[in-house]
Amino acid sequence: MNQNELLDAKKHIIRISRDLHEIGLLVRTWGNISSRVDDDHMLITPSGIKYEDLTPEMIVQVNINDFSYEGDYKPSSELKVHAAAYRIRKDCGFIVHTHQVFATCAGTLGIKKVFSYFDDEDVTIPVAPYAMPGTDKLAENVSRTLKKYSNANGIIMANHGTLCLGSNSNEAVFQAEMMESACNDFLIDVCKMDMTHGVEYGYNSRREGDTIVYDQPDTPERVKRIHEQIYGKRPDVKFIKHNKSEAALMVSRRANHMKPLLDDFAQLIGVGVKIPSNEGEIYYNIKKNVNVVFAPNDGAYCVGSTEDDAEAVAMVLDKGCIAYIAVMRNGEGHYLSLFECIKMNRHYRKSYSKLADIEK
Ligand SMILES: [Zn+2]
Repeated sequence: MNQNELLDAKKHIIRISRDLHEIGLLVRTWGNISSRVDDDHMLITPSGIKYEDLTPEMIVQVNINDFSYEGDYKPSSELKVHAAAYRIRKDCGFIVHTHQVFATCAGTLGIKKVFSYFDDEDVTIPVAPYAMPGTDKLAENVSRTLKKYSNANGIIMANHGTLCLGSNSNEAVFQAEMMESACNDFLIDVCKMDMTHGVEYGYNSRREGDTIVYDQPDTPERVKRIHEQIYGKRPDVKFIKHNKSEAALMVSRRANHMKPLLDDFAQLIGVGVKIPSNEGEIYYNIKKNVNVVFAPNDGAYCVGSTEDDAEAVAMVLDKGCIAYIAVMRNGEGHYLSLFECIKMNRHYRKSYSKLADIEK
């Protein structure tokens, strides 16, 4: 590729990321996209930048054999997974990695394959065994799965997301859409759950100095008490978003201990969240480094030091609740180990605070 072709390829990645963002398969900084340059190189989206903010110079060229790259932007932390796919599948020219809701949730059930259908055709989606994000082990698990299912153009990465392959972007995007539809049908058939996804907000607030400002003037006293308690116990919290999505409401109806089924849950929310059986118990569940506080039968309060953080927590919670319901209905699933959760949570907080320092 000459310089002009390279620039076009970078612009094309950005265009596709916006398309996927628009149809809801990519959100925030989650997931990543790459395209093949030649036998030894790929272009990939950078780490930690929102799709809305991407410019061509941020797209990084990486060697798929030794992972070396040039420029100021760090390639996505999942570059080894992409590189492995290009090495194994010579026919592959474009890859989309998403954290899309239904396929990701189907990948928490502890199964090796999802059997479903699309357009009256049978669909089999292999699930690559779990390993922590960014690790060599994850790239190895994905490689093994791609080799075993040599004609599969899409796989699920257990407890994390999808990897969608195509000879071009159209095929990779189609694969992502097809998998979402097939996995939604699978959850409807196997787990008997026909759920909508997306955050529904209830009573939100923000802290301004010593005062709490409620978005809705008619916020009930009962709810205000919960907000006051959260701000009281968590000096780092500046925003509370009350998430009343269908899935969050359903999960809040039964006292339980919610353990992470998804990487982003362990990273952004915490290593476990209690669902209380009565209002009094809510206050015991306000803890440092746990960014969700459930209210019995009333969804959950998602907290953050910025509005953006609190909204991210609310989105991750909604998906985490869908996974949780799927596993409950299925009767089994694969939970992340406490060790993995602690490690991911710490790593996320550490790298996140570093990022915040730079932005300041
Ligand atoms: Zn990912």
